[in-house]
Amino acid sequence: MSSRFDTRAIHAGQEFDPATGAVVPPIYQTSTFVQDGIGGLRGGYEYARSGNPTRDSLQTLLAALEGGSHGVAFSSGLAAEDALLRAVLRPGDHVVLGNDVYGGTHRLISRVHGPWGVEVDPVEMSDFDQIRAAVRQGSTKVLWVETPSNPLMKITDIAALAEIGKEAGALVVVDNTFASPALQRPLELGADVVVHSTTKYLGGHSDVLGGAVVTSDEELAEKVRFLQFAAGAVLAPMEAWLTVRGIKTLGVRMERHSKNALAVAEHFAEHPKIERVYYAGLPTHPGHELAARQMTSFGGMLSIALKDGEQAARTMAESTKLFQLAESLGGVESLIGYPAEMTHASVRGTPLEVAPNILRLSVGIEDVDDLLEDLEQALPRS
Ligand SMILES: *Cc1c(COP(=O)(O)O)cnc(C)c1O
Repeated sequence: MSSRFDTRAIHAGQEFDPATGAVVPPIYQTSTFVQDGIGGLRGGYEYARSGNPTRDSLQTLLAALEGGSHGVAFSSGLAAEDALLRAVLRPGDHVVLGNDVYGGTHRLISRVHGPWGVEVDPVEMSDFDQIRAAVRQGSTKVLWVETPSNPLMKITDIAALAEIGKEAGALVVVDNTFASPALQRPLELGADVVVHSTTKYLGGHSDVLGGAVVTSDEELAEKVRFLQFAAGAVLAPMEAWLTVRGIKTLGVRMERHSKNALAVAEHFAEHPKIERVYYAGLPTHPGHELAARQMTSFGGMLSIALKDGEQAARTMAESTKLFQLAESLGGVESLIGYPAEMTHASVRGTPLEVAPNILRLSVGIEDVDDLLEDLEQALPRS
């Protein structure tokens, strides 16, 4: 069935239960499966680390949304990233990493994989000369990008990066957490692999942690699936079910997130207290035209830099009432964060450090007038 995105989001991998007709597939909250005689498995299921029908339904759904042939679900975004990196890297290998990716991704590669002999260079991923200069022929195995990036919302041309990856013999990995497949499908643009923190927009309600790897590369999918089974960072059935439930409304949520974020970005674009707004939906953003080409809209994440510096930013982060001060993003409720000490604390003192006057907003789907009033009342008067 070659249906369109919003239809796939509701139906892919979600056939009704054949035993009872339940419209919503049940949560298979079980760790093991009875065998009809030794080795007589029903539907291939034997033990929930190797396979569980609820996890399978999410994996099928994720693959369908990203336009890939294989989805592999993990207990967190970082567990998914870890499995992917272990599947492709060996001691002496090298990763070219976007210089403002999620701080935890840099920490994972440099501090967990580093001691096993993996090297990493953070580079500016919107500058192809820098990427080419960073590539080490023969040992660079991965080009890793987030677009829009975190927290500065830089945009990378995925199709052009895929060309560089081919020349270099390196896999192009896109962390598609910020855009979600509703707005951007990297595999269709030539990327080899998509990773997700499904904790964010896919789950969408700030109530479940999870991660995923999606690819159409059969051999790579096999390796990642082996690590899911052999190292065991699987997504539990309840979390898989909650994620599926969230995904059903992904399309409509992303429309509203994008609309609200654009309104907030426009509100602050010419604001006397704001030095700069980082949002690709603004025509003044250097990646605006590119984002308009490779995304269907610009998403719910934006950052603002305050003119009055660090103290003003800290005060604002602690003064909003609707925007809750918290890590994470992508839920229906609005969140505000102070990247320098929150999401990006792990990269302080590295090239990925975030300026102290920057605030990151995850703009929720509340009434936008309430959101704007909240942000205005939180701006320090000075
Ligand atoms: C949150 C996040 C991750 C890590 O995912 P977890 O589910 O927290 O492990 C990776 N990449 C991006 C862009 C994220 O926002």
